[in-house]
Amino acid sequence: MRCYELGLGLRGAPAPPRQERLSSDPDTAVLAEVLAAAICHSTNWDRLRASVGRAAGDPEWFTAHRLAGLTPAEFQRAFGDGLAADSTFAGRHRLFTETAALVAAGELRLDWLHDAAPRVGGEGGIYDRLGRVPAFGRDPEQKKARILVQELCRTELIDPVDPASIRPAVEYHLIRLYLRTERVLPTRAEDLSKLTTPTTFRAPVIGRVRRAVESAMYFTASAAEISIPHLNQIEWQVGRSYCVRGNPRCSGPADPGKPCDETVLALADGGRCPFADLCAANADGSGLARLVEPQLSSRHDFY
Ligand code: SF4
Repeated sequence: MRCYELGLGLRGAPAPPRQERLSSDPDTAVLAEVLAAAICHSTNWDRLRASVGRAAGDPEWFTAHRLAGLTPAEFQRAFGDGLAADSTFAGRHRLFTETAALVAAGELRLDWLHDAAPRVGGEGGIYDRLGRVPAFGRDPEQKKARILVQELCRTELIDPVDPASIRPAVEYHLIRLYLRTERVLPTRAEDLSKLTTPTTFRAPVIGRVRRAVESAMYFTASAAEISIPHLNQIEWQVGRSYCVRGNPRCSGPADPGKPCDETVLALADGGRCPFADLCAANADGSGLARLVEPQLSSRHDFY
């Protein structure tokens, strides 16, 4: 019911703008999207994309062979301003160079551009192929693979024959948003109270939450009469710019450090959160607004 109500509020949302490519050379742009997605866990997506885009501006340098051999110092110089300087750095360097090496060796083929009819679902589709790559395949909920497919579509680098197979990419901003808007809630009261402070949960528990959010996204998109990638793009922005982890910005404005595109701004009446009139957390003014997404132990590199 909550999915239906919130989905109705999104009806007529303008189509998302075309995303700028990371390189004017299409093959370099695909490689850049793949490598950005491979290391996109727990980081600021805009900064990461900007740093990869800067590096990809030089297609002579930005080749899979060259990138596979980057030392940690070279990786830091090229992409450091897009990455958190924390304990995740070494793991990101490994994922990045491993993925570039697979491309260089031809074990991960990026010929989607040259396929007259790229398919995302089913055996041999893009999700299936990415599932065999460690950076993408370790996550049972395929967050990075799903982000990548959506980015390739937004940049018009691919135009799949099976757009209905494009799946939601569920990450922590969306989980927080779906909890606060009461579209997904734990059934046990003790689990609900644990979600009022950042609490670490085991990966299988978080996997169940992510699958529940995914189902709720399908209900919401159906009520909104928009596609899954369109809904994903809108709600990810609402989650990270309005429904922030600290005090949610129900009355606006959006977090200026995480700007929203015109699709979301068109829905934001007077600069308020697009869900301000429909959201249970805004109406109740206390309990639900304090909920935060469950945390995953830092040894995982896909959330
Ligand atoms: S109204 Fe407030 S609590 Fe609800 S989704 Fe928007 S920012 Fe989050």
